[in-house]
Amino acid sequence: MIHRLLAALGLGRNARPAAIPEPLWRSTVAGLPFLAALNREEQGNLKQLAEAFLADKSFTGAGGLVLTDAICVSVAAQGCLPVLNLGLHWYKDWSGVVIYPDEFVIPRQIADETGVVHEYDEVAAGEAWSGGPLILSWRDVLLADEGYNVVIHEFAHKLDMREGEPDGVPPLHPGMNQEHWIEVLDAAYEDFCARVDAGEETWIDPYGAEHPGEFFAVLSETFFTFPEAVRDSYPALYALFVRFYRQDPAARLPYPPALPRRAATAAVPPASRASRTC
Ligand SMILES: [Zn+2]
Repeated sequence: MIHRLLAALGLGRNARPAAIPEPLWRSTVAGLPFLAALNREEQGNLKQLAEAFLADKSFTGAGGLVLTDAICVSVAAQGCLPVLNLGLHWYKDWSGVVIYPDEFVIPRQIADETGVVHEYDEVAAGEAWSGGPLILSWRDVLLADEGYNVVIHEFAHKLDMREGEPDGVPPLHPGMNQEHWIEVLDAAYEDFCARVDAGEETWIDPYGAEHPGEFFAVLSETFFTFPEAVRDSYPALYALFVRFYRQDPAARLPYPPALPRRAATAAVPPASRASRTC
């Protein structure tokens, strides 16, 4: 099976989609409560999208990671959730996913005010290159939790990058006003930065205060995996996300009884994400 699936998805792009075996699909969904909360029709649509995504993109294991069907299906299923009601063409302008076993190092360059270029290494859990690959740390993918999802985070960056550098303003649908989006996003971002600067414990990952582009990516992963946090913190922005993603994750509640939700008071970001870069 692994050879058939990986041959379809890894050895050549634009292969004919191969069906994800039902047991593998069911175990993937069962391990991710925000996917298990989808209704039967939505899960069927997501499976078809994931199959098409696997056939369309190249997957590469790096740093010694040996890809398995389970890894590729998990990434495809989570990554396709944001475009469940948008369509796979939103991911058409890039070709591949690279997965490391753990955090990876990105060489960076930055010029100071005198023009001197400084080089340094940045450790990251994920990275989305404009027009290039999407890079993930598998260890961080496995840390998926309410409000933390590096896969959705990076895929949201890809949506944002469809109109240049990620700035929190993806291409909006007809009838959506960009000025209004920016106004609502900026107000929420300023409020969020003030809360983080004041040392307030936030429901949303403080990493979102890094930049408006990161705010959009962090809010997107929270929107899909811990929607109440976005809805209750920034209702106007939540309403815009519902229109943009054409999904209302908070309306999927209650989650199945077999998937108990974490107590609200326990929504403290794990230490592992305190220093994340993605
Ligand atoms: Zn990011």
